Amino acid sequence: MIKITFPDQSVREYESGVTGLDIAKNISNSLAREVVAVSVNGEIRDATRPIDSDATVVLHKFDSAEGKHAFWHSSAHLMAEALEALYPGIKFGIGPAIENGFYYDVDPGAGVVIAEPDLPRIEEKMVELSRKNSEYKREEIGKKEVLHFFRDKGDEYKLELIDELEDGTITIYKQGNFTDLCRGPHLPDTSYIKAIKLLSVAGAYWRGDEKRRQLTRIYGITFPKKQMLDDYLLMLEQAKARDHRKLGKELELFVFSQKVGQGLPLWLPKGAQLRERLESFLKKIQVKYGYLPVITPHIGQKELYVTSGHYEKYGKDSFQPIHTPEEGEKFLLKPMNCPHHCEIYKSKPRSYKDLPVRYAEFGTVYRYEQSGELHGLTRVRGFTQDDAHLFCRPDQIKEEFIKVIDIIYTVFKAFDFQDFTAQVSLRDPANKEKYIGTDENWERAEKAIIEATREKGMVTTVVKGEAAFYGPKLDFMVKDALGRKWQLGTIQVDYNLPDRFELEYVGSDDQKHRPVMIHRAPFGSLERFVAVLIEHTAGKFPLWLTPDQVVVLPISEKYHDYAEKVLKFLNNYDIRTLIDTRNEKIGKKIRDNELKRIPYLLIVGEKEESEGAVAVRRQGEGDKGAMKLEQFRDFITVEVRKQLEYLEK
Ligand SMILES: [Zn+2]
Ligand SMILES: [Zn+2]
Repeated sequence: MIKITFPDQSVREYESGVTGLDIAKNISNSLAREVVAVSVNGEIRDATRPIDSDATVVLHKFDSAEGKHAFWHSSAHLMAEALEALYPGIKFGIGPAIENGFYYDVDPGAGVVIAEPDLPRIEEKMVELSRKNSEYKREEIGKKEVLHFFRDKGDEYKLELIDELEDGTITIYKQGNFTDLCRGPHLPDTSYIKAIKLLSVAGAYWRGDEKRRQLTRIYGITFPKKQMLDDYLLMLEQAKARDHRKLGKELELFVFSQKVGQGLPLWLPKGAQLRERLESFLKKIQVKYGYLPVITPHIGQKELYVTSGHYEKYGKDSFQPIHTPEEGEKFLLKPMNCPHHCEIYKSKPRSYKDLPVRYAEFGTVYRYEQSGELHGLTRVRGFTQDDAHLFCRPDQIKEEFIKVIDIIYTVFKAFDFQDFTAQVSLRDPANKEKYIGTDENWERAEKAIIEATREKGMVTTVVKGEAAFYGPKLDFMVKDALGRKWQLGTIQVDYNLPDRFELEYVGSDDQKHRPVMIHRAPFGSLERFVAVLIEHTAGKFPLWLTPDQVVVLPISEKYHDYAEKVLKFLNNYDIRTLIDTRNEKIGKKIRDNELKRIPYLLIVGEKEESEGAVAVRRQGEGDKGAMKLEQFRDFITVEVRKQLEYLEK
């Protein structure tokens, strides 16, 4: 008999050789149907693999990350089996599970093309094969034997992968007529895969090397239930409709110009004004928290980045230096604001009583990204960080973290991100030499961050080994309205730059000490934040932020003068108002302006004019009845004020 310990610390005895699936069955049949993989002493394995000594066991269902991984990885094998049946002689590269689904890189052979119209046929074959309930059978065999198998098969890509493996036993998995080199784990059998959708086809160089052959990458996703696939496809469709690149253009927020350059967004008037509102929103909060504004140039001498270490780390893979014509100077486009801020800190002597010093700047930085990696506002080559650097004493870290967390909370609340998580990234205690800074400082900072999150009552995951080499950090992930996760907001401790720039303060002991630096950006960058906000709200920004708050719609030309009067009246009170004097039917005007996501539509005709009133419609909600002009002004002012109320607290 062996002892199996469960996550709740309960222990049960089983016969040696029991499988995860047996254990699940022993608990309940319904659980057994859902278990797709198990962790045995932290190692993730097939649910059908025997366990032959005492162990800690976690049963994974599809809803866990581990479960999804096994499920989608097995689905890649199933797709490969289908491909081999349909395209005899097809060769296989790699076929991993990814965040949403899986892909396989394949070489269909000379003259054979697999394109999107072929996907339904492959899907059909997968469905047919999944119904055969083929077991995923694990086998351990010698390297020689594996090489022999794939040489016979003529799978040159697999041979290359096997060649790089160490001698000894290698695992392969077989299901139906398909055999793959693989570490696993996999589902018990193919019948678990109930709903299948192949999504797209792309080109991918073998091993990401553009000098090597381009393979065909086929993306797909699968689920244990059809409803789950339907929900996922609906979400994809909604995501497409909310795509910030599409909405950004429709709402006239920003554009890109090939002539200006890829990855360099051009903000249009409505977008620029929206950005200004975001900036003043954050500035207002930052003033309350004792931040001081600074402004630094867009370039800096190469030496600055040699000192900061950025040149050594990123220099050759980034924008190359700018040379002056006569004096032989070299400048770099600013990839980060921190080095400039360090020099500001250094511009005068500091005492322990001056700390913390908090410098804030909406600083535009430039980072080279390969053109293929660029994506709307989320991956760009020039962007503006809502940056700040806090220079503090080691004993102030916790308090500063709490304050930054408060700011981030305020931001999330203002933009209605209700669902978020946070991750504390610590150093790997087994690899201390990888990190800069003393043991004492690290322990102190890590403790301070954990305590700060506890005091704020935050639910966090703590991950060892994920810290930057220069310090521990706290990152926030928000879930948007479609349930997608985005990283927003980061707070990082840094021991490296104060060292490299030899920053100092005079302590109460009259000795020189090194301050700790904290980098923080609640939005991350304005570009990325606006992108996330567009997709989260589908372009329906909060009233206080939205570009146009009100549009006046005269029923006919006769009422243009009155509409102008309404417009002027509201603009006088800083209510952002437009007028639609197009010679169109009122129904069309309403539809068009609702599409522009303008929150309030004011319809004016004879009755309204005679009463000094407006007929109010709220976008997406419909008729709100008639209001006197002053009454509407108060109504909308109260709504805006309410949205920004907590800023005043
Ligand atoms: Zn596999
Ligand atoms: Zn920084």
